[in-house]
Amino acid sequence: MKITAIRTHILKSPLAQPFAFSQGWVPTRSATLVEIITDGGPVGWGEAFAQGMEAPEIAAAAIEHALAPLLVGQDPLDIEVLWHRMYHRTRDFGRKGSVIAAISGIDIALWDLAGKHYGVPISRLLGGAFRSTVQPYATGFYRVEGQGEAKRLAEEAQQHYDAGFRAMKIKLGFGVDDDIAVMRAIGRAVEGKDVTLMVDSNHAYGRVEALRLGYVLDEYDMRWYEEPVAPEDIDGYAELRSKLRTPIAGGENEHTLYGFGELMRRRAIDIAQPDIGSCGGVTALRHIAVLGQAQGIEINPHVWGSAVAQAASLQVLAALPVTHHSLFAREPILEYDRSSHPFRRELVTEPMSLTDGVVRIPDGPGLGIELVPEALERYRVN
Ligand code: CA
Repeated sequence: MKITAIRTHILKSPLAQPFAFSQGWVPTRSATLVEIITDGGPVGWGEAFAQGMEAPEIAAAAIEHALAPLLVGQDPLDIEVLWHRMYHRTRDFGRKGSVIAAISGIDIALWDLAGKHYGVPISRLLGGAFRSTVQPYATGFYRVEGQGEAKRLAEEAQQHYDAGFRAMKIKLGFGVDDDIAVMRAIGRAVEGKDVTLMVDSNHAYGRVEALRLGYVLDEYDMRWYEEPVAPEDIDGYAELRSKLRTPIAGGENEHTLYGFGELMRRRAIDIAQPDIGSCGGVTALRHIAVLGQAQGIEINPHVWGSAVAQAASLQVLAALPVTHHSLFAREPILEYDRSSHPFRRELVTEPMSLTDGVVRIPDGPGLGIELVPEALERYRVN
């Protein structure tokens, strides 16, 4: 079997109501999907991460101009070999950001293709499934005004709870005083309920403000404090981790075994959050999971993107061992973004959904999803 072509599909959909996270306003949903065609074999689908403000054209250009020429004519089942070839051939201009997102998109598509070729889900190729369902946590609490929304956000917490979520992650990073008001309001809304909280400030602060917020967060028994400082400030991560009681999480803006290896060696994080569409794909997530296992650091993937990235994340979550084994070990938890997203609802025949408090992991071949071609055409801009 040989790869004959790699196609990119750039999807865009303007949001009826733009929303903010700490780094800016998101006006449009976008995605870079990757389709790998073979000579008579199956087709593989993948997705390169496109953060809210990231132009999906960047990863698409890296795929078309830098990576596809390396892969056409190669055997798609040589996944590990191809990963290293892509990484090494782009090292001088890659290593981080959209180039690694491009490698990720291709890598996911190769795993999908291999799963379809062997007739098994990706989790089987990774060594088998530790779980068939996963508990989700609600990601939401985006801002529509910016500041002063504590009351509405407390109501939103109740809505997630009523929808069946028993874990939720609060977006902070809109000024420490505003953040504290939001924490207090949501804390009161969930008081006495069986709810696990996390927070995410999307690296809004330097160490001084991140610590000031952190000391307040320490009053709540939270699962983690995510991206407290900028991804480059590894010493800042380590400092917060040593001073705060709340576990420190990060990694959605870090990449490959090299980047995560550095975070782990410097004791910067308690929980590593590689995003499958950004860290280097299934192959890189597997490398990172092994590093984490060796160092006793929990791996809990960050999940973003369309139904394709969600499906890839579910396959990896199925095959992810717990870091610390025990009879009642803490299991990885699935990031379930609750904001409106047409590429999750419309792009596949069976979108991810919450049933009885859990999300079922597909067990069909490859990613275990089926794309809807009309939906792809509806949002395609290239
Ligand atoms: Ca985040």
